[in-house]
Amino acid sequence: MSDNSVFPGDKIASIEEYEAGHNAFDDGDMVRAATMGERNMDKETRMINVNHPKLLSIPKVGDVIIGTVAAVMSSMIAVTIDYINGKPTTSKVECICGTRNMRIRNVALVNDIASLKIVAHLNGTIHAVMNEPELGIIFTKCRKCGGKVVTMRDAIKCTDCSWIDERKLSSDFGKSDFIHLRE
Ligand SMILES: [Zn+2]
Repeated sequence: MSDNSVFPGDKIASIEEYEAGHNAFDDGDMVRAATMGERNMDKETRMINVNHPKLLSIPKVGDVIIGTVAAVMSSMIAVTIDYINGKPTTSKVECICGTRNMRIRNVALVNDIASLKIVAHLNGTIHAVMNEPELGIIFTKCRKCGGKVVTMRDAIKCTDCSWIDERKLSSDFGKSDFIHLRE
C-alpha cells in the first residue's frame, strides 16, 4: 500500500481544491473516497479520482489451473497460470509443483502446458500438485526435435524422430477441446 491508498469514506480533498471524480463523492465539505484504492489527483481538470486496485487473480486451494511451464528444476517445476477453473487470467501468477517423488524421466519441459491443483499458499508461494489422473501435462513436444508426440502406454513417442520419452501426462492429454481453450 502506498501513501495514496485510501479506504471508503476517507477524506481525500476539500471541495474547494478538487471535484469528485471516479469512485469519489463530496459530502458538501470534503471529497471522500467511495471505494478502496489509490488516490489520483488530476491537477489540470481539478478532479480527484480513486483508482480501484487491479483484481489480481490468485487461485484458491482446491482450484484447478492450467498454465505454461516456465522453469524445470531438479525437484520442482514453476508454472505460469493462464486459466483458473477454466477461466482465463492475465495476472500471470506463478505456482510451483514438486516433482521429487515422481519416478519419471522428464516430468515436464519448459513451455509444456500443465493442469495442476492448488494445495497450499506458503510464504507467498502457491503450491500445486499433479498427482491425480486428470492432472499433469496436457501439451508437450519432443525434447529432441520439437516434433509432435503421441502417447504409447505410459510413455510418449515423437512422430518425427521416434524419440521415446516420459511425462506425467494428464488423462486430458491430446484432447481437442483443450486446443479451443488455447485460442
Ligand atoms: Zn522428435
